[in-house]
Amino acid sequence: MDAITHKRDSEPPAPAAGEAGADITRQLSGRLRALRTERGWSLQRAAEVCGVSKAMLGQIERGESSPTVALLWRIAGGFGCALSDLLPPPVAAAAEVRDPGRLRARPASDAMLVAPLFPFDPELGFEVFELTLLPGYERVSEPHVAGVVEHVVVQRGSLEVLIDGAWARLGEGEGLRLAGDREHGYRNVADTAVVFLDLIHYPRGRGARRD
Ligand code: MN
Repeated sequence: MDAITHKRDSEPPAPAAGEAGADITRQLSGRLRALRTERGWSLQRAAEVCGVSKAMLGQIERGESSPTVALLWRIAGGFGCALSDLLPPPVAAAAEVRDPGRLRARPASDAMLVAPLFPFDPELGFEVFELTLLPGYERVSEPHVAGVVEHVVVQRGSLEVLIDGAWARLGEGEGLRLAGDREHGYRNVADTAVVFLDLIHYPRGRGARRD
């Protein structure tokens, strides 16, 4: 995968904040070890596939640090799994009301809050996040696995999306579909938070926990 490096990615991971952060760190540690065991990969092999340093991956597996969301994406790309596969599991019930206020957490040092509204479903091939970018947030994402398509709908505030090398501005209620397997990015240049939904669709056979 052609990783587009970004300064933020190379910064050392910050310890996860608060109880929710500790939960996420613990969950991530367990998921990562399980995924690696499933594939029979050594730490070295996993680090190479994900394009992450072995030391960093080891720290995350031991629950000693929480990575940035960008790093989570890189790990998900390496393992060929969905982002929500690395986050706390859903409390699944068919008619359960999903309250972003309770699901929202800051999984990393990024100025970004993530609420897994509908975690990845292997049958349906998609996951839905509510994402909050705090003022000043900017990230150019490395491409996700081939065939990933993101559907972005702004709920509050004004979002700028990097698509085909130019920043497009989306206002409240506006949506945009973009190829997640090409360079893309998000930024908030306003002085208030922007909240948007991101439905991420994975092509058949990708993003699954297994197979
Ligand atoms: Mn993306």
